Amino acid sequence: VTDWQGLHVTVAGLGVSGVPAAKVLHGLGARVTVVNDGADERARAQAAELEALGVTVRLGDGDTLPEGTGLIVTTPGWKPDKPLFAAAERAGVPVWGDVELAWRLRGRDGGEATPWLCVTGTNGKTTTVRMLASILEAAGLRTAAVGNIGVSLLDVVLGEEQYDVLAVELSSYQLHWAPSLRAHSAAVLNLAPDHLDWHGSMEAYARDKGRVYEGNRIACVYNADETGKPSTEDLVRDADVEEGCRAIGFTLGTPAPSQLGVVEGILVDRAFVADRHKNAQELAEVSDVDPPAPHNIANALAAAALARAFGVPAEAVRDGLRAFTPDAHRIAHVADVDGVAYVDDSKATNTHATEASLAAYDSIVWIAGGLAKGAVFDDLVAGAAKRLRGVVLIGADRALIREALARHAPEVPVVDLDRTDTGAMLQAVQEARRLARPGDTVLLAPACASMDMFTNYNQRGDAFARAVRELGAQ
Ligand code: ADP
Repeated sequence: VTDWQGLHVTVAGLGVSGVPAAKVLHGLGARVTVVNDGADERARAQAAELEALGVTVRLGDGDTLPEGTGLIVTTPGWKPDKPLFAAAERAGVPVWGDVELAWRLRGRDGGEATPWLCVTGTNGKTTTVRMLASILEAAGLRTAAVGNIGVSLLDVVLGEEQYDVLAVELSSYQLHWAPSLRAHSAAVLNLAPDHLDWHGSMEAYARDKGRVYEGNRIACVYNADETGKPSTEDLVRDADVEEGCRAIGFTLGTPAPSQLGVVEGILVDRAFVADRHKNAQELAEVSDVDPPAPHNIANALAAAALARAFGVPAEAVRDGLRAFTPDAHRIAHVADVDGVAYVDDSKATNTHATEASLAAYDSIVWIAGGLAKGAVFDDLVAGAAKRLRGVVLIGADRALIREALARHAPEVPVVDLDRTDTGAMLQAVQEARRLARPGDTVLLAPACASMDMFTNYNQRGDAFARAVRELGAQ
């Protein structure tokens, strides 16, 4: 679409993505109708704001396709099986997400379109995108970390600021609705079951993740250590890419020729070797990565691969990784009390993330529980059993974890806190302290969502940190 004047665009959903999309489309001259399922107070306030601009808003009916719609722009959360999309398909109306819209609008002012380096995966997206931005900055490039990370691509694409390259985090939802996106290079970090209620099946979820590789120009970066089916390497193989685009693997072991990996504590690159006389380029030391846990080294290698695909020198990888500090609530060291380390990984909201953080410590008092979202805990618990000093369970679905512990780690002491009020976290930390020995790590890695007890994972992590500080002060 180049001619927006007179085009009737239906925006599916209000909220943080729908409202800005409606404004942008209205600004382009399109005739805009927003449809929204709910009609609560927040929706009514957003509707009033849009109506004042001349946008039509239909509250309480997100399922009927408005007459004359030529394009739907949907918020990423809307499930593909909604009747609105079936109606669109029958009528031959295309559906775009906010990322697709941003992709179509980039470079619209006639300037050179900024290349996108894209990152998706089940876990580690935000961390990797921030590492990537840090590396690109260290190379002197004008860049921003955008997308699912919380910075709107539309704002950046239409804003005044000029960038040399963007580090873009994409969710599986966003990829589902971004059919024409063509990245410079892209990485899928890992694939584990998540959001299957939305996508319908693991195959559909993997297919949507794999879209990030479609049409890549320079490199498709995959995880060479993953053995699941389909693997990220399978997704690369299935993708239709530009001629000359390379498949680049990353591994925690010794890298093969087209891979980045780790040799004796050094991150090395055997794919983009600048010096013709060498067959591997040293990039950084494992200790340059914060925290130097295995899953996070994998994130660093993926970020390095994308940066190297963009032509960034080895020194910038090292400098960028050194300058990087992790976001809050992602394996954040809170304090040491009586020789015990207290670590906040409240962002570990699924079993795959929790598996990674449990693997990072030898002797753990594990605080877990919350909303399980249909998860099964057997593999997680069986894999970590030997490293558990004890477990403190909180939250609504804690019985599921308790039962898995009884099956796979019957000798590990478990404290089951039968309370879901916010004060429970203080008690959980006190119980954990009783179980811990000097040298242990008390790890909040709930493997569950937080909404049974807290507003979000941030609040849960803050409650943990507060409780730890109270311990320290006693
Ligand atoms: P995302 O943006 O994909 O949710 P984050 O970088 O915010 O990922 O990390 C989310 C959680 O996943 C963190 O708690 C962290 O412990 C865990 N994690 C980070 N990277 C990985 C990885 N490569 N593999 C598994 N778990 C990871």
